[in-house]
Amino acid sequence: MSDSPTLRHDSDHQQLALLADLAVPLEGQPPPSRRIYCNRNLRLDQIDVVGFDMDYTLASYKQAEIDRLSIEATAKKLVQKGYPDSLLSMKYRTNFPIRGLLVDKRLGNVLKTDRYRYVKKAFHGTRELTTEERRQAYQLKRVRPDPRRYHSIDSLFALSEVTVFSAVVDELDTPLAQIDYGQLFDDVRTSIDEAHRDGSLKEIITADLARYIEHDKDLAPTLHKLRSAGKKLFLLTNSEPYYTDAVMSYLLGGGLPEYPSWKSYFDIIVTSAAKPTFFTTANLFEEVGHDGQPHPHKVKELHRGRIYRGGSLAEFEKLTSEAGDRVLYVGDHIYGDVLRAKKESAWRTLMIIQELTDELTAMERLSAEIARVDKLEERLAALQDGLRGRQAMLKAVQRSLDEKPAAREREVELEAARQRLKRGIDRIRVQAKAVEAEHGELEAEVERAFHPFWGSALKAESELSSFGEQVERYACLYTDRVTNLLRYTAGHYFRGPRHRMAHE
Ligand code: IMP
Ligand code: MG
Repeated sequence: MSDSPTLRHDSDHQQLALLADLAVPLEGQPPPSRRIYCNRNLRLDQIDVVGFDMDYTLASYKQAEIDRLSIEATAKKLVQKGYPDSLLSMKYRTNFPIRGLLVDKRLGNVLKTDRYRYVKKAFHGTRELTTEERRQAYQLKRVRPDPRRYHSIDSLFALSEVTVFSAVVDELDTPLAQIDYGQLFDDVRTSIDEAHRDGSLKEIITADLARYIEHDKDLAPTLHKLRSAGKKLFLLTNSEPYYTDAVMSYLLGGGLPEYPSWKSYFDIIVTSAAKPTFFTTANLFEEVGHDGQPHPHKVKELHRGRIYRGGSLAEFEKLTSEAGDRVLYVGDHIYGDVLRAKKESAWRTLMIIQELTDELTAMERLSAEIARVDKLEERLAALQDGLRGRQAMLKAVQRSLDEKPAAREREVELEAARQRLKRGIDRIRVQAKAVEAEHGELEAEVERAFHPFWGSALKAESELSSFGEQVERYACLYTDRVTNLLRYTAGHYFRGPRHRMAHE
């Protein structure tokens, strides 16, 4: 990429002056919500190019506002498709869904699974299934990722799909009028898809950007800091050129005097990228003209200051000739940005998880309760071991008694041992019951502190959730917001936890 005419910086001298400053490590660790967490070691000084997704990465949406907008647009479209008008005045719980859930299109349920894909929680509409109902529906088997039956909620844009789906199930599902859940979910999906594509959402958002998107004053300095350390930056978004221009102008326009426009922060700008296909199918780039239309000529070089659309990873690598492992891509979509990038390229990944701050806050607030839950689990395991041991001994004593010992003394001795063991077993059972009750209550309290319906997005009780597992597997780094990069030097060495196996 360094030979490309696109990527020559215009202010090298200024950047060199800043480099000295950047070589000084920042003092101490940032507070937890501002930290960047590391799954796999990554040295920022070995990264030459940093790419950014736009929506929910550079642009943090105000979730309640964007949910309300998507829900209203979807309900309107569902009514146009023939659903009852009552959907327009239906009650919605925008705080109902979290990322990483699965929609079961056959049974109309929404599920949270653990890392092994066992169903840990399930709701029908907004009613939680009892343990027995859950057992019957999923038979304690792993959920097989069949897209005809299950739809995965991978991005924060998609939360409103669950909100609408569950609200319609609440509204329309009666024993007499069973809904075709698969059809309903497909209709919800198509309606939201249309609302994203036909401009009905984006027209309203662009008319009042401050209402829908956070303005983080640290964004311009964050990008500037990376550029100043000699890194090339690119933007790779699925959003259309006109929308990208509107959002990026809002985020970066008038930011720093050195940058006349938002475009000056980036060496390459790719819009309408169609991720995840971008990573898998070799499409050519098209240049977008001032009229917003693509130029007919073939793109042979990617130039700074211009806007491209489409393209693909293969074409990007061909035109920039940058080593994949020196690229860090920052995105929020577990599948479209992080998983695909990791599987199809050597790109390193930094995942933006907007929910992280709430998770960290809950963890901090309930740290005493979480520690107590761990203690109770240990205590319960010890009691159960004790119980099993005594039960085995009781069986042995009983066998000896059944064999009628020859000596009377021996029989009395065995009978006394049997009584002792029985009393011990009863005592342990009572203790275990009390521990279980306290554990259940405390665990429910901890779960509610994370989320009133689903608990933590990243964990499923003491296991990782399937979403947490994907984050751990595919994101080299993860953090709450892009501007947390400002807290680290441009040469920072992120060190992942040392993995330990059970025997270590
Ligand atoms: P990115 O995160 O910057 O790559 O862009 C996400 C883009 O995808 C935004 O323009 C969204 O409006 C768009 N988007 C999100 N969900 C859907 C959908 O269901 N159908 C079509 N476009 C979507
Ligand atoms: Mg995004």
